[in-house]
Amino acid sequence: MRALVLFSGGLDSTVLAAKMKNEADETRLLSIDYGQRHAKELDHSKIVAQQMDLPHQILYLPQLGDILGGSSLTDNNVALPEGHYAEESMKSTVVPNRNMILLALAGGHALSLSYDTIAYAAHAGDHTIYPDCRPEFANAMDTVLGLADWENLSLYRPFVSLSKADLVTLGHDLKAPLDLTWSCYAGRELHCGKCGTCVERKEAFALAKIPDPTKYED
Ligand SMILES: [Zn+2]
Repeated sequence: MRALVLFSGGLDSTVLAAKMKNEADETRLLSIDYGQRHAKELDHSKIVAQQMDLPHQILYLPQLGDILGGSSLTDNNVALPEGHYAEESMKSTVVPNRNMILLALAGGHALSLSYDTIAYAAHAGDHTIYPDCRPEFANAMDTVLGLADWENLSLYRPFVSLSKADLVTLGHDLKAPLDLTWSCYAGRELHCGKCGTCVERKEAFALAKIPDPTKYED
């Protein structure tokens, strides 16, 4: 297997990168600047990739944010919600059709490298809020990517039935550099500890009973 990991520098895709490094014959990481409201995630993607000694490329397409408005992750006019990640208010963090766009770009890159696999880290906890993290979406994208070229290309999504706590446990077992990953939507010096993804991160370490190495503001 030659695998291109769609890689954000967050916890989930870092665990996936560690898993692929173990399993695949070749692993590369692709991060995409789609106009996120802060560059923190991308900074951390470089640090994590370096630490894991995996080839990494960042594709800069910040103007995508101009056509993907209305989300608090790409539009500075939309306030970032605080609270539990499964609350209705967190739907403002959905970026319209993000995963299809990112997977399509990754598909082109994978085919150009003669890679046969794209790996993405959607997990079961994502389904409540993010429609493009549902298993049905992943299955359909797998079919589409397989039809995009004469060469074989499939979407590997090993985490779709796992919880974030399961990913923390797996990452810990694989010695993934979880301490270097970035989750927070706010993008300040430290993790804010209050936004949906910070709350989810804290909860995952607590449920996994693994000490959380993250420094939070509070
Ligand atoms: Zn936060």
